[in-house]
Parts: sequence; structure tokens; C-alpha cells
Amino acid sequence: MTKKRNNPETIAIHGGDYRSDPATNAVAVPIYRTTSYKFNNTEHAANLFALKEFGNIYTRIMNPTNDVLEKRVAALEGGLSCVTVSSGQTASTFAVLNVAQAGDNIVSSTDLYGGTVSLFTHTLSKLGIEIRYADPSNPENFEKLIDDKTRAFYGETLPNPYLRVFPIQEVSDIGRKYNIPLIMDNTAAPVICRPIEHGAAVVIHSLTKYIGGHGTAVAGSIVDSGNFDWTADPKRQPLFNEPDNSYGGVIWGKAVPELTGANVPFAVRARVCLLRDLGSALAPDNAFAIIQGLETVALRMRQHCANAEYVVDFLKKHKEVTKVIYSTEHDKPIANRAKKYLQGGNGPMIGIELKGGIEAGKKFIESLKMFYHVANIGDARSLAIHPASTTHSQLNEKELAASGVTQSYVRLCIGIEHIDDIIEDLDQALNKSSKGNLKAVS
Ligand code: PLP
Repeated sequence: MTKKRNNPETIAIHGGDYRSDPATNAVAVPIYRTTSYKFNNTEHAANLFALKEFGNIYTRIMNPTNDVLEKRVAALEGGLSCVTVSSGQTASTFAVLNVAQAGDNIVSSTDLYGGTVSLFTHTLSKLGIEIRYADPSNPENFEKLIDDKTRAFYGETLPNPYLRVFPIQEVSDIGRKYNIPLIMDNTAAPVICRPIEHGAAVVIHSLTKYIGGHGTAVAGSIVDSGNFDWTADPKRQPLFNEPDNSYGGVIWGKAVPELTGANVPFAVRARVCLLRDLGSALAPDNAFAIIQGLETVALRMRQHCANAEYVVDFLKKHKEVTKVIYSTEHDKPIANRAKKYLQGGNGPMIGIELKGGIEAGKKFIESLKMFYHVANIGDARSLAIHPASTTHSQLNEKELAASGVTQSYVRLCIGIEHIDDIIEDLDQALNKSSKGNLKAVS
């Protein structure tokens, strides 16, 4: 394409520079099932390893199928470069390990996916990286936790269970005063939010969810916005300003812009250091599955969100529902963030609390006929889970309260089925939730 197009529907299909396979003219992106790539000669091989020339070396580090996906995800997010990895968990792990080492800290939002909390609190802390938690209802809480070892801020655009939209620009502005980049997990809000436009330096995704969209492959991505100056304060970002002995003493913050002409040291370092050392590469077969999903993400997000709006209205009037949690159903200052940051929809996820407490939550889930009871989000299908009896069942009352999950909280991910069928299934299950004695779900 000659003209740069900025509409997500088009980017999702044409983003990047792929028109057809250079070897065969195939229009669909081929799955390059190869581990290695033949070097033209010894000089070519040496240049690739020395980053004097960019090209394929080994599939742990790069692959042509993944490359197409990477360029499309980067374009969708309005970033300059993207690295795909084996899962969303790997994307979060790499995003932190790419800026922080033992002794450093990250200031993170308290509103996070449970797996990220576990990664931060248990695994990264054992590696000597401290995660300090800031309540995002007041962005200034982030500033209070900064010290000279703070390497990044971390937040999620639309985190459940609270479904409070993260104050992206406010926290990014604070960070930029101290040369601290904001890393945003945009898993639950592709297309409807572009965190880079609000100041995020890095955007990660679990591609497993809305971008993949069909529950067929686990994958993750890390997008470098190209808008953060990693060299402005060398003490703040030592991993980008001190010689890297694992790569011939290269200084990533300087070398990458010189070598590539683009300010993407975050993406390059994640690829050539973290994928090199930790593996966690995305299999090209899974990249192919995600590319198919990506093509329709804009259409699906529109439908997820439109259906969710109907469901919110329906639930607010239902006699068995005591509370509806949705991005726009908060007190004014928080609800206004949905207006500021979400475009074309207010999100696909809804939380509800039921009159009958934990028993009603379980009965409701067991009574659903079309919704799937799964620990996933972002599928084309409607999904539901009762966290207190499943994902959060190991937590005590205090921990449950801190996580925002009450005994009767049920999370709904509204799918793209016909709205009448979604409402009918919810209605019949809600009406059964306070009646009879069904066996408990595990
Ligand atoms: N980030 C968010 C917001 C998620 O919801 C999830 C998974 O549910 C992840 C990251 C981790 O993604 P994955 O399951 O692909 O490892």
C-alpha cells in the first residue's frame, strides 16, 4: 500500500508491509515452519549477529510469519516496533525484565490481572525486582512511590474485576517528569483504546484474548512506541545506557537508533537479549492463528461492546442483580475516564453482584446454557466465571475484598452472538440463581 492508513479495520488486514509471500506470491501469510535460515556467506552471518544488517537468524529470535503479525500489531497500536512472544504472561515478564534488574523497582497499578499479580509479587520479587503497588484512583499515588531505582510504571487499560479505566495520560505525564516509561497492558481494549496516543511508552497484549479472538492460540506481544527517550537520564535507565557485556559492550539506547534509524531500543533489546536468553518464542503456527483473528478484531470489538451496553441496561433492571460493574458505571471521576480513553465502545466485560450471595453466584453459573464457564476472556463466545468459587477460591475474606472480588461477584465477557440470545440466557440463569439447590461448582 502506498498510502499510510490509520483505520483499525484496514490496519488489521493490511498493516505492515506484507502484500504477498515474496517466494510464492501467496496472499495468506504462510506458516514458516523453520528453525533456521541459510546465511549467504560468512560475512553475511557475522553481520547479522553483529546487528550490522537485519535479517533472519533463528526462529527463537525472529520468524517471517511472526514478523507479519508483529508489524500489524505495532501498526494497530500506533507504535514503531513489536516483538511477539509465547504468551501474554511472557509479554508482562519481558516488559519488566527489559528495564529492571535486581535492586530496581517498578510502580504498578493495584488493578491487575491475577496472573500478573502473582508474577510480580511472587516470581519477580524472588529475582530481586520490587513491585510497589499504587491505587490508580488517584494518579498521584504513583509519584509517591518513586525513588531513584524506579524503572517503569505499569498499568492495565481495562482491568477486571473493578473495570476502572486506567488514567493513562495522567500517570504517563508524571512518569515523563522523571524519565520513567509507562508500560500498558491493553489486552482487554484493543482498537477501542490506543495507549500510545495518551503517552504510554510500551504496550503489551495477551494476543490470546481479543486480538486472537477465537480461543485457539496462546500468544503475547510487546510494542515499542518509539516515543520514549531512553538516553535522557542514563542513571534512570542503566540497561539502555551502560555497555551490555552480553552483546560486545553495546549501549542499546544509542546503538539501536544509529543502526536502525528508529528509536526502538526497547523492542530490539527484548528480542535479541530476552528472547535469546529466555526463549519463550511464539510458534509460527500460533502466529498464523492470531493473524486470522486479528483480521476481524475491529468488527468484533464493536460487536462485543455494543452487546455489552445492552446487557448493562438489562442487568441494571434485573431483580436478582444488586450491582452492575462496568467502565461507565462508576462515580463521575472514574466513569469519565471511559469517555476520555475508550472510543467506539465502553468495553466487552461486565461484573455483577447477585442478591443471593455466593450460592446465587454458583447457581447462576451452573444455569447458563449458552455462556461458557471458563477462566478466559476475549473469546467470540460469551463467557462467565464466578471467581470466589474458582480463580480466587484460595484467598481469604480480606484478600478477596482487596482483590475487588466479592462472594457474589460474577464476571461476564459478552460475546458476539445475537443480543437476544445473550439476554435470554442471562435472564433464565438469573431467575434460577435464587432458587433450588444445585451442586456447587469447583
Ligand atoms: N494480561 C491480561 C490482562 C490477561 O487477562 C491475561 C490472561 O488472562 C494475561 C495478561 C496473560 O495472558 P496469557 O494467558 O496469554 O499468558
